[in-house]
Amino acid sequence: MLHSAIHPQSKTESEVQSRLDFLVRSSNDAITGTDINREITLWNPAAEKLYGYTEEEVLGQSIDLIVPKERKKEVLKMFKDLANGKLVSDFATKRMRKDGTIFDVAITISPIKNDFGQVIGFSTITRDITEHKKIEDLKAEFLSTAAHELRTPLTTLKLISESHLRKYKKLGKDQIKLSELNLINTELSKLNLLINDLLDDSRIETGKLYMRFAPVDLNRLIQTVVRKMKVINKNHNILYKKSKEISIIGDVSRIEQVLVNLISNAAKYSPIFSTITLRSEKLNDKIKVSVIDEGQGIPIEKQKLIFDRFYQVKEKSNKGFGLGLYISKEIVNAHKGKMWVESRVGKGSTFNFTLHLI
Ligand code: ADP
Repeated sequence: MLHSAIHPQSKTESEVQSRLDFLVRSSNDAITGTDINREITLWNPAAEKLYGYTEEEVLGQSIDLIVPKERKKEVLKMFKDLANGKLVSDFATKRMRKDGTIFDVAITISPIKNDFGQVIGFSTITRDITEHKKIEDLKAEFLSTAAHELRTPLTTLKLISESHLRKYKKLGKDQIKLSELNLINTELSKLNLLINDLLDDSRIETGKLYMRFAPVDLNRLIQTVVRKMKVINKNHNILYKKSKEISIIGDVSRIEQVLVNLISNAAKYSPIFSTITLRSEKLNDKIKVSVIDEGQGIPIEKQKLIFDRFYQVKEKSNKGFGLGLYISKEIVNAHKGKMWVESRVGKGSTFNFTLHLI
């Protein structure tokens, strides 16, 4: 009784099959299928519309028909990975229509298995992302131009305010003017950091975030950064127990940027007068650097997302653009290192990154 209530009617295999066929045929998404030799076995009407080939034209043909020349290697590797059980989900690439035009797509591929669980082919859902890509490119171009345009007047303002600040410090008389100038200078520095983040973001998007690799003593670098951060951040107790020389090959100013970003975040997201501790620890051929705070912490489900572009745990936080961690992780990746967070809400966060020792 109970059994039939859960499974009101068991359908015959052919009924299930015809329902599936109906779903595939009526789908607005282009659904295609191939066997393991990359020969096309399925081609729904949405795929006909997207690629310009009819079902009759493509069945039995190689999938290479719709793959642009420069993407053929990528497809071969993809099929190898799929055969090894890897998943392909929303992968951005390019495909070619019957008329030869090449366009941007996002593809998701799932294995098709027989009754014995053996993979006998793959089904692919293809989304045309041409418009989306155009908008993304326009956004990146706009951000990059805006950031460049903003930087020039800002540099001038900063130079003027610094020269006034030096003058008033020498005179040492007008304390009000001095504190006002200090404020202007601090705000201009914040603007400078935000604009630099925007510029770095567009460099990453266009693959132009270049690194200048050279030998670096990481221990010395951490000490220098901590000293600088103590000067601009009097509200937190920043600690680092210096170690022996740590030799790595890296881009010194980019690693400094990562450290500054992690310490600034630790300060931004933890109560005043709490402690921020930096640690360096050797792990075989790597060095692990940790920045530990006693702040609000990050919920477990958000911990992966915070490294995404523009992601902020609290939306519309006025503390930045949500780019700092994204850029930091890209910099660490460019050094073939890893970056991750361990955190408990209400207890604090530890941001770690690794770099290779020489
Ligand atoms: P931004 O600080 O500009 O928002 P980030 O990329 O540096 O951008 O950080 C992304 C988000 O991660 C922040 O908005 C914040 O919600 C969270 N976050 C980063 N560092 C910490 C930290 N030390 N403690 C708690 N939350 C943090």
